[in-house]
Amino acid sequence: MRIRYQLALGLLGLGILFQVLRSLYFIYLSMGQKNICPRCGAIYINKSKRRGLGDLLYHLFGCIPYRCTVCELRFHRPRVQ
Ligand SMILES: [Zn+2]
Repeated sequence: MRIRYQLALGLLGLGILFQVLRSLYFIYLSMGQKNICPRCGAIYINKSKRRGLGDLLYHLFGCIPYRCTVCELRFHRPRVQ
C-alpha cells in the first residue's frame, strides 16, 4: 500500500517535472526570436487570456501566455517587445 502511494507520488512528480521542462524548452526555443510559434514556426500568435495558477506562476517570471493561431499550441514566453 505504501509502495503504491509512493509510486503515485513519483509519477505525479515526474509529470510536473516534464511540464516544467517542456515549458523551459519552449521558452528557450522562442528566445531571440520575435513572434514565432515554437512548434510550427508560424508567425501568427496571439496573446492568450491568463487563467489559473500556472499562468500566475509564469507571470511572476515575466512570461505571458500566447496561442498559435495555426497549430493551437498554447505556450509561455517572455513578453514580446
Ligand atoms: Zn504553431
